[in-house]
Amino acid sequence: MNQANIIDGKALGQVVRSSIAQRVSESGIPVRLDAVLVGTDRAAEIYARNQESTCAEVGIEYVLHRIPDGAGYDEIAGRVLLLNTDESVTGLMLHLPLPDAVDTERIQSLIDPAKDIEGVNPANIGNVVYGRRSLVPCTALAAVELIESTGIELKGARCVVIGASNIVGKPVAVLLMRGEATVISTNKFTRDLAAETLQADVLVSAAGVPGLVTPEMVKPGAVVVDVGINRITVSAGKRCTVGDVDFEGVREVAGWLTPVPGGVGPMTVAMLLRNAVDAALS
Ligand code: NAD
Repeated sequence: MNQANIIDGKALGQVVRSSIAQRVSESGIPVRLDAVLVGTDRAAEIYARNQESTCAEVGIEYVLHRIPDGAGYDEIAGRVLLLNTDESVTGLMLHLPLPDAVDTERIQSLIDPAKDIEGVNPANIGNVVYGRRSLVPCTALAAVELIESTGIELKGARCVVIGASNIVGKPVAVLLMRGEATVISTNKFTRDLAAETLQADVLVSAAGVPGLVTPEMVKPGAVVVDVGINRITVSAGKRCTVGDVDFEGVREVAGWLTPVPGGVGPMTVAMLLRNAVDAALS
C-alpha cells in the first residue's frame, strides 16, 4: 500500500528558525518586530504571547502596542503611521481582528511596504507579481517552501491551488507562476474541482473546508499541501483541528503530504520571522 512521505513542517520550520537566529546574531543589526493589538481578543492575545517567545528565541526584539477596545480608524491609523516613521521599528504587523467599524484593509494598506512583514499591503503583492524584491504573505511563502522541500521541479509542473483569497490562494498561485509552473486557480464556483485536481503534480488546498480533498481527487504521487485550519467536533464535547484534506485517505495516493497540525502552520511562523529579518537587514 502506498504511504506518502510526510512533509514535516515543524522540523523544517525549526531549521529555518535556527538559520534566522544565526543571521540575526551575525549581522549585529538590531531586528525589531512591532505589533499592534486592538482590544482584548483572546486568540489574538495568545498569538501575541507566542510571538513574543518565538521572537526571543531567534534574537528579535518584540514590542507590543496595545490600543483599547473601541478605538476608531484615526487612532489605529495614527499609531501605524507613527511606527512607520520610527527608525528603530524594522518590522510592523497588526493583530486581527480590528473593531468591526474599522476597515481592516485600509489600515493594512498604510503599513510601510518595507516594514510589512505579513505582506498585507497590496504594494507587496504587486511586487511579487512583477518579480521584484518584496515581503510576501507568510502562509503562501510557507506553502511554497514546503513544496520545494520535496525536491520537485516546479518549472513545467502542473499546480492546482484550491482557494483564491488575497492572503493565501492568490499569492500561492503567483509564487508558483514565478517558478514557471503551469498554475490553475480554483474557487468555490469551479465547476468540476476533481477534474482539475486529478491533473495536479502539486495540489495546494486553502479553502477552509474539512474533508474537501478526497483520495479520488488526487493524482498518484502528487505533492499535496494542506493549508486549511478547521476546528471540528469529533464527539460530544471533543473538538480537534483538521485541514481540508482527508489525511488518512490521501496519504495512500499522494507522494508527499503535509499534516495538520504540524505542516503549514509552523512553517508560517518561521516565514514571519524570516520576513522580519529580511525587512531589517535589506
Ligand atoms: P477565505 O475564506 O478568505 O478563502 C477561501 C477560498 O476558498 C475562497 O477563494 C473560496 O472560493 C474557496 N473555496 C471555499 N470552498 C471551496 C470549495 N468547496 N471548493 C473550492 N474552493 C472553495 O480563506 P483563507 O483566509 O484563504 O483561508 C483558507 C484556509 O487556510 C482556512 O482554513 C484558514 O484557517 C487557513 N489558513 C491557514 C494558515 C496557516 O498558517 N496554516 C494561515 C491563513 C489561513
